[in-house]
Amino acid sequence: MKDLDAVLAERRAQGLYRERLVLDSPQSIEVRVGEEDLVSFCSNDYLGLANHPDVIAALQRGAARYGVGAGASHLISGHGRAHEALEEELADFVQCERAVLFSTGYMANLGVVTALAGRGYVYEDHLNHASLIDGARMARSNARRYDHRNLAHLRQLLEEDAVAAAGAPRLIATDAVFSMDGDLAPLPALLHLAREAGTALVIDDAHGIGVLGPSGRGSFAHWTVEPRLPAVLVGTLGKALGTFGAFVAGEASLIEALIQTARTYIYTTALPPAIAEATRVSLRIAREEQWRREHLAKLIGRFREGAARLGLALLPSDTPIQPLILGSADRAAAAAGWLRSAGFLIPAIRPPTVPAGSARLRITFSSAHEERHVDRLLEALASLPP
Ligand SMILES: *Cc1c(COP(=O)(O)O)cnc(C)c1O
Repeated sequence: MKDLDAVLAERRAQGLYRERLVLDSPQSIEVRVGEEDLVSFCSNDYLGLANHPDVIAALQRGAARYGVGAGASHLISGHGRAHEALEEELADFVQCERAVLFSTGYMANLGVVTALAGRGYVYEDHLNHASLIDGARMARSNARRYDHRNLAHLRQLLEEDAVAAAGAPRLIATDAVFSMDGDLAPLPALLHLAREAGTALVIDDAHGIGVLGPSGRGSFAHWTVEPRLPAVLVGTLGKALGTFGAFVAGEASLIEALIQTARTYIYTTALPPAIAEATRVSLRIAREEQWRREHLAKLIGRFREGAARLGLALLPSDTPIQPLILGSADRAAAAAGWLRSAGFLIPAIRPPTVPAGSARLRITFSSAHEERHVDRLLEALASLPP
């Protein structure tokens, strides 16, 4: 066995040791941690639905009707009417033939990449989420990383492999909205390249679903790209939709193939049906309440303007993910500590979650924030010690 004490000591020495917070309140923009009341700018609850009374009521009704645990995997006896209804509503939402639920986004990505790529070739953006990277590893594929959003580099890798990969499955995988940077993958150009090279294109829209595009239909709708093969859409339910779980959407044949072959679908307990019931309600709210996205856009604009006035180094992002790059892990941790003492919860994001030297405060916005929260945050950032 590894010397675990040494592993932990090294983490501490590098300033990379992580402590879990214990929340005593619901996930919200104002959270309680022990004796502290903090304004939170760090959740992925972009539409303020994680603690919405109608979503809570739906969960309670779902539990009263279906109980708590699904009790079995989807292919045995864990797949219920609530799952079936949610899958249909998700497919309708993203305008696909069919959708299938997975227990988490992490598992959806593992399942999709291994099912579609096998031992073939997988091309990944350098800043992809860990679950897409791990999918390529689990598939024991030939994995390649291209520089962030660099299509010339991707094209070069595809060409380099063209002979060796002839006849083997190939797949490009990318976050649609990069989780730690907030910028967007260029979907139309990626799709063009995928078609040209004859590869599949897995789009992980964890941070786009509910937030981007008309009615919050996500990154495909934002770019007016159809979620059709060679493109495959993975969405998650634990971020803007405020609940838990994930889905893959696309052609009926693709979805059926995943149900039959994706190991992270087959060998795990189905999502609790009450969660599916709660998600049906949060999906309806996310679709119908356009004001949530409009308010969010206003808050993001207000923050970016204020930050520009302060000369803060924000990344080029228009999404609710607004990282402030600080460089070293120590500097980011010190800033997070100072902000916490000023009443804000914005943990430092450090390597290996982000590349070395780019430790940051990952500031995120929710439609539940008010302008006064943004103004208070800007005041605090203005007096952040160097
Ligand atoms: C959060 C996230 C996931 C994982 O989703 P979970 O449902 O939390 O497992 C996958 N991809 C991206 C880009 C994410 O941000």
